Amino acid sequence: MFCTVCSAYVNEDAKHCGACNRCAGGFDHHCNWLNNCIGEANYWDFYNLICLYLVFMIVFQVVSIIGFIDGTIMEKTWMVVMVVIFMFMNLVAIGFDSELIHLHRWMQEYGIGTFDVVLFEREKVEMKMLVKSGQKA
Ligand SMILES: [Zn+2]
Ligand SMILES: [Zn+2]
Repeated sequence: MFCTVCSAYVNEDAKHCGACNRCAGGFDHHCNWLNNCIGEANYWDFYNLICLYLVFMIVFQVVSIIGFIDGTIMEKTWMVVMVVIFMFMNLVAIGFDSELIHLHRWMQEYGIGTFDVVLFEREKVEMKMLVKSGQKA
């Protein structure tokens, strides 16, 4: 496959990323949080990172609960407020991260990547539009 933007020959599974302005081999998705592409070269680093992140967040949650139980957090009101806010945000992040890990595990099982899912979703939307406009019998 020839990429006209990079003016170079790239692998079939590569995709040109507009945000990074370069091609990524085995393109999975562009991660806005990491501001980088996730492809075959760093997919497992990415997956390990989101798993590690989950572990860290759970540790934070456990440490906070212990702090409440043994009363070290209770000494100062601002500390209690801060920790409660952090714990709440942490809980939301745990939810999102678990969903993300779950999705990636599911995709690993089926041997597909994020980009395949995106393409599939896009196709579904196009199909729906075709059905609506009556072009598809
Ligand atoms: Zn390119
Ligand atoms: Zn990218």
